[in-house]
Amino acid sequence: MDMKIVPTTCPYCGTGCGLNLVVKDGKVVSVAAWQRHPVNEGKLCPKGRYAHEFIHRPDRLTKPLIKKDGKFVEATWDEAYDLVAKKLKSFKPEEVMCLSSARVSNEENYLMQKFARTVIKTPHVDHCARLCHASTVVGLAGAFGSGAMTNDIGGIAESKCIFVLGSNTVEQHPLIGRKIVQAKQKGAKVICFDPRFTPTARLADLYASFYSGTDVALLNGLMQHIIKNGWEAKDYIATRTKDFEKVKAVVMKPEYSLDNVSRITGIAVKDLETAAEWFAKSPASCLCYSMGITQHTTGVDNVKSVANLLMLTGNVGKIGGGVNALRGQNNVQGACDMGALPNVYSGYQNVTLEPSQTKMKEAWGCEIAPGKVGYTVTDAINVLCDSPPKLKAIYIMGENPMVSDPDLHHVEKALKNLEFLVVQDIFLTETAQLADVVLPASCFAEKDGTQTSTERRVQRFRKAVNPPGDAKVDWQIICELAAKMGCAKQFPFKSAEEIFNEVAKVTPSYAGMSYARIEKPEALHWPCPTPEHPGTPVLHTQKFSHPDGLGVFTPIEFKPPAEVPDAEYPFILTTGRCIWQWHTGSMTRRSSSLEREEPESWLEINTEDAKALGIQNREVVRAITRRGEVKVAARVTPDIKRNEVFMPFHYAECAANTLTNNALDPTAKIPEFKACAVRVEKIKEA
Ligand code: SF4
Repeated sequence: MDMKIVPTTCPYCGTGCGLNLVVKDGKVVSVAAWQRHPVNEGKLCPKGRYAHEFIHRPDRLTKPLIKKDGKFVEATWDEAYDLVAKKLKSFKPEEVMCLSSARVSNEENYLMQKFARTVIKTPHVDHCARLCHASTVVGLAGAFGSGAMTNDIGGIAESKCIFVLGSNTVEQHPLIGRKIVQAKQKGAKVICFDPRFTPTARLADLYASFYSGTDVALLNGLMQHIIKNGWEAKDYIATRTKDFEKVKAVVMKPEYSLDNVSRITGIAVKDLETAAEWFAKSPASCLCYSMGITQHTTGVDNVKSVANLLMLTGNVGKIGGGVNALRGQNNVQGACDMGALPNVYSGYQNVTLEPSQTKMKEAWGCEIAPGKVGYTVTDAINVLCDSPPKLKAIYIMGENPMVSDPDLHHVEKALKNLEFLVVQDIFLTETAQLADVVLPASCFAEKDGTQTSTERRVQRFRKAVNPPGDAKVDWQIICELAAKMGCAKQFPFKSAEEIFNEVAKVTPSYAGMSYARIEKPEALHWPCPTPEHPGTPVLHTQKFSHPDGLGVFTPIEFKPPAEVPDAEYPFILTTGRCIWQWHTGSMTRRSSSLEREEPESWLEINTEDAKALGIQNREVVRAITRRGEVKVAARVTPDIKRNEVFMPFHYAECAANTLTNNALDPTAKIPEFKACAVRVEKIKEA
């Protein structure tokens, strides 16, 4: 019997827990927590515990597929590459888009954006951060000069007041939730405001439910109360920030009195007063947020308001403080860092600035895409519905927009308008089924690479087993396709480490990193600018990342969601995840231990609302929005605010995103998944 243990990193959420894969006779048979990993310290949540179960599924893609007469036919790699190369070359560069992925490695994200910009020469490259934390990247970069989580995960346990807003941390980032528990055990106060009484809310010393999409009003109200009482950090504001007076002028308006904010949000005045006092007076307060803040047409406003509160109270740049923007997927931070975005090269180097363009041209040794901002994922879906469509072909690596994107009828129409679609994935996902060519790729256990967790920790994952059949690793597929298209010189890589070395050369925040330096589980947090630099767990300790070193306050007025309830659609629909499933379910729904826990979708509705509609628990009801309808089992519970309903988005056969609104934040272009108007109907018997 051949057995080995391979240390690696969890492929699910952005916490970045360390795993040991147990390999027996060439198969991963189990997962054990990595005892000495500094984040999870020998613990795992259910998803991590069962992360091996999808790896050897019989429905893994093992051969390239080419669609002929509407049916997929197995092909050789040469046949698939020849067809993809010929088709991609047949379009103008700006008619082609590349979609990268938060689920693959840094090296693969780096190569995908390099492929777009050097081989196709298109500016159109993006990935699913557009759907989760695009608002964070824009909002925190505006406030602090760096669009990432300011502190490390370990520091949450040192906080004295943790405000959880727009995050169900205990279910979605369970090993970060454990740090909240540890802080509480050391005396920290926990505040949680959420429309649902989640497992995270159960931890809170102060919980209040509130209406989705009212975060700016809430935060402005808290700031008004803090300023009125003189609790703001006056020295910090004077020495480390600018434009405070502009924010003060807005938040002190009568609109943001606690009485008015209570009316807008549904939170009692006394709870608002308590939250403001606890947060302002604690010696170290942090705020943990996730997509409840970002997935709004006011996503950037929400993030900037969070930044305002943290600067007002002097909590940015210290242990136990900080804006803890909890990134969703395992490598969504890294995919952004690697420049799989339409406006920046790796390390957030602006594509529109001549020095950045010249630097990349010289590093890559060829002409590159014009220095202009390309389409986002959400732009792409819209321009595909133009007549004639402005895009003709998309190359998708590891994304599943046919379940993950808002308003799925619109997405399907858009993808069907493409002349050519290539999907590179490990399973025949709902999106891959629409493709002209499918390229079989490898999962986390079948390749080497790095990923960057939510706390900016760049850590390794390691190959444990071979990919199934003829499947290949994503970086190898990109290199071989680039060679077929005449760009072998730019893609000479023989290992993931060689790619990482190029990343370090062209990316200032990764410049001091190497595989040797991140071999241990502690790894390194970026920025790490030199080989001697120890990495940076806490950002902005002495100065912010703007050229003048100052944090920037931004005045923000409250705006309601794009679609609010009315007589026809009287409820607010909000969407999210559960602990057992992951995003579009392509991996977790193929993991039997996870799938058996939550195999079906549901619609959570308040007990009183259900009673008024005559709906019983588990009764199948109809949920209808202006975009579509689904039949779904009701889950009747007092744990959700009245007039608000919730659906998880993991289930393709009952897709919550059939209902959601594709209205976008004007800057970050993130859709408003967290609030749209919906009607819930009892299904009448025939
Ligand atoms: Fe994996 Fe996240 Fe669970 Fe850790 S908390 S085991 S990274 S899913």
